[in-house]
Amino acid sequence: MASDFHTHSAPPAGVAALVSTGLDRLGSFPLESLEFHPWRLPSHPVELTREFAAALARAAALGEVGLDRLRGPAFPVQQQMLDRLLRLAAEQEKPVVFHCVRATAELLAAVKPYPHMRKLFHGFRGSPELCEELRKHGFYLSLGAAALERAPLVEHLRRTGFDRIGFETDDRPEPVGQLIERAAGVFGCPAEQLAAVTDANFREFLQR
Ligand SMILES: [Zn+2]
Repeated sequence: MASDFHTHSAPPAGVAALVSTGLDRLGSFPLESLEFHPWRLPSHPVELTREFAAALARAAALGEVGLDRLRGPAFPVQQQMLDRLLRLAAEQEKPVVFHCVRATAELLAAVKPYPHMRKLFHGFRGSPELCEELRKHGFYLSLGAAALERAPLVEHLRRTGFDRIGFETDDRPEPVGQLIERAAGVFGCPAEQLAAVTDANFREFLQR
């Protein structure tokens, strides 16, 4: 089974995918994460509605949520909204999918009160050092096509292995099975093995 840690569209047959969706489409996919994307936050902090909390109870995860230094409302507004979202996810014991652009330190500070939270850093393509720092803090990391072009990261994972690593299609058309096959070529390991390891990580992240 190939697993897609983060996508915005319905997966093809034979793929287990965590589909990130808003309230409007919730209930349309087998495995869903309820998003409140930092780009689409209001310009001032708002309370989360009861409707949102009830919807999260029906979803497998929260996300994508997060922090983006380059887009969205003022950064302190993003931080305040993230704090509210994380409190709700913790109450409901939901795993969380993070979008994070140039705000790793602030993200680590935001999750610090929740040591048992299952956390996914989606679209990871950073340095080997950041990869290790995030894994040390308990994050799962999902890689898209762009990560395969980062030679230091590829070399690092080849050496250290795929603990807490997965693959994602996000908003790209390339099916995750094909991405994993390409990744296997880049990492120099059998595609079946890479699919099996990342699928096990996917189940561990979602606890199913
Ligand atoms: Zn996404």
